[in-house]
Parts: sequence; structure tokens; C-alpha cells
Amino acid sequence: MRIFDPHVHMTSRTTDDYQRMHAAGVRAVVEPAFWLGQPRTNVGSFLDYFDALLGWEPYRAAQHGIHHHCALALNPKEANDPRCAAVLAELPRYLLKDSVVAVGEVGYDSMTAEEERAFEAQLALAQENDLPVLVHTPHRDKAGGTRRTLDVVRAAGIPPVRVLIDHLNEMTVGMVAESGCWMGFSIYPDTKMDPDRMVALLKQYGTDRMLVNSAADWGRSDPLKTREVADVMLAAGFGEDDVDRVLWRNPVTFYGQSGRLDLRTGSEAGADYAGNTIKRG
Ligand SMILES: [Zn+2]
Repeated sequence: MRIFDPHVHMTSRTTDDYQRMHAAGVRAVVEPAFWLGQPRTNVGSFLDYFDALLGWEPYRAAQHGIHHHCALALNPKEANDPRCAAVLAELPRYLLKDSVVAVGEVGYDSMTAEEERAFEAQLALAQENDLPVLVHTPHRDKAGGTRRTLDVVRAAGIPPVRVLIDHLNEMTVGMVAESGCWMGFSIYPDTKMDPDRMVALLKQYGTDRMLVNSAADWGRSDPLKTREVADVMLAAGFGEDDVDRVLWRNPVTFYGQSGRLDLRTGSEAGADYAGNTIKRG
């Protein structure tokens, strides 16, 4: 079984996690830029973080046989701090980098005017750079927040097939299915979706445009949740091809729209890793 986790914050995870993920079948991840818990106070903090997502983290992942790509953005929460919003001016040169396969995560946290401005600006950046977008939906007032998110996406004129609306649940999946955007589900140990509810949604909505992630970060979370969903799918009567579609081919199709997804293995990959080492220096 091969697994691609389309949303996981490996910066917050240990090397043991990389080993366990590889043993469970994870061979590729996308790490979106997010809030690190401690508020940033200046643009330089973002740039060092972006450099880590482009250099150090892919290097670390490669040592455990996992392909690492990233999505870069000003996250919704820190869009509210004017000291951080200035990173929007630095993003264009970062979005040109080889292993950046999307803009993200963007969207609403508390649904403020500042968040909306950053969201719209970054949807425009995604279009200018021909990149797909990973959109976070707020945890409070999820239905209202998701509806407003879809309005902003529509108004931006970006093709829905290039947009992933993440952290969905039973209340919000329907409107995103109708919109034509990709549907993302974060499987957590105690909140949001669990594997059984996820598999029920796959039965109801099918496997098309469906993405399952662990969204593992510094909070209570588990980077093996993707594998758990695969196992529950098989137990529920889905075939191996369905599992491969949801947990590998769908993320490959979505992020492949960037034209930058590099999943070569073997000796070719060795050359890649050497490249990462050079980039790191
Ligand atoms: Zn996240």
C-alpha cells in the first residue's frame, strides 16, 4: 500500500514519526505552512520557516524514504498581525521554488477583514504562479465559514479544480462537492473526522476529488491516521484500487497540477536528495 499524506506538519513531528509513517506505507507528504503556536513578530521568522520547509525538512524526510513537498503562504491566524502580513510581499519569489506545489494554507480563522484581504491576495498569487491552493476552513461556525470561503473562491475566478477546501465534515462536504473544488478531510484522534465517519462519507460521496490527511502538528494528532482510513476502507468493502485512488492517486492528481511534483525513486531519487543537500547549504 502506498500513501500520500496531502497535509501534515512534519516540522512539529519527530524522526520516529517519519519511521513509523514509512513502515505504514507513507511515501509522500505535502507540508503546508502554518501557525507554529508561538506568534511570529516579524517577516524574517516566516522566511527562515519557509527555508526549512524547502531545505531541511525534505532532507530529513528523504532519509526515511519519504518524498516531501510544501505549500507556502501567510496562514489565516497570523494574517491578523500587521507585523506578519508584510510577508505577502516576499511570497512571490518563494512560490517559484521547485518543491512548492501549492499556495497554502490560506483562508479564514476568525473571519476578519484582514484574513479576507490576505486570502484574496494569495488566491491571486496562486493564479499568477499557476499553482493549486490549499484552503483551511475555520473550526468555529464551520458551515458559515465554509460558505463564505466558497464565495471568495468563486469571486476570485480561480478554477475550482485547482482548489482544495480542507478540514471538512458531514455539515460542509455537500456544498464543497457541489462547488467542484477538491474535498479535504483531516482525521484526528478526538475531534473533527474519525476513520469510520470518513469511510461513511466515501460511501456516500464516492472517491472522486476526495483527499484524506492527518493534519498532524504540535497538537494532539496522529500521522498514521491516513493508514487507519485505508484499513477501515478495506474492512468496509472498498477495493485496493479505491484505497490507492483516495490515498495516492488523488493527491498526486491535485498537487500534480503544479507541474512540480517529483516522486522519482531509486537512483534518480538519490540525485534529488543530493540536490536538497546542496539547496540546504
Ligand atoms: Zn494544517
